[in-house]
Amino acid sequence: MIQILFSLVFFSLLFIQTDNRIHERHSMVRHQIEGRGLRDSLTLKAMRAVPRHRFVPEAQSRNAYDDSPLPIGYGQTISQPYIVAYMTEIAHLQKNSTVLEIGTGSGYQAAVLAEITDTVYTIEIVKQLGESAVERLTSLGYKNIFVKIGDGYEGWKEHAPFDAIIVTAAADHVPPPLIQQLKEGGRMVIPVGAPFFIQTLMLVEKKEGKITTRSLMPVRFVPFTRSD
Ligand code: SAH
Repeated sequence: MIQILFSLVFFSLLFIQTDNRIHERHSMVRHQIEGRGLRDSLTLKAMRAVPRHRFVPEAQSRNAYDDSPLPIGYGQTISQPYIVAYMTEIAHLQKNSTVLEIGTGSGYQAAVLAEITDTVYTIEIVKQLGESAVERLTSLGYKNIFVKIGDGYEGWKEHAPFDAIIVTAAADHVPPPLIQQLKEGGRMVIPVGAPFFIQTLMLVEKKEGKITTRSLMPVRFVPFTRSD
């Protein structure tokens, strides 16, 4: 009897673990992220915590922890885990940072940011994606992520300035309103370049009122679109 009870407990624990896919997540972090040299402990912890499989469509669930971007509908994609981690690490976040993300998509990057900082604002231009991200983030218990449906080009003035701005769609230039809304000492990470080609991930910093930019690496993001 006691043996049956033990095996029941054992198998239900095993089920909970597999269901939560924690092993896949740890392996993703070890191989794809630490394996490529990222070391920031807060970022690694956040990437281990957020259940990426809950952010992809059912049909993509099997591939949720693959080393690649995945389609999320409406012609958009959730970025490759390494890129999400890289952009998070390079933003140099602290617990009390206020972050703005442009391009909510599935809400995954926002959730990773929200594991680290107190407040995350995020803007999505595709209404349906923004609405389902709100539902998903609420059901996962995130209370520190604020989603707005709209064109992120203008930023979110009411909550500016931001310690960090993360743009997850490729623009052909850095939107001036976003530069304005960056705090002194703040950092913006943004892919810049022509749509559907290789773009450059740029770090934009504001120091003593001056703007400096640095190219980080070649990337490929979906286009930054504008509302009419
Ligand atoms: N960060 C997302 C991935 C987003 S893909 C995630 O973790 O899942 C890029 C997203 O940017 C798409 O959802 C696209 O609709 C959105 N986007 C494109 N142009 C935008 C704009 N001007 N303002 C806000 N969102 C925009």
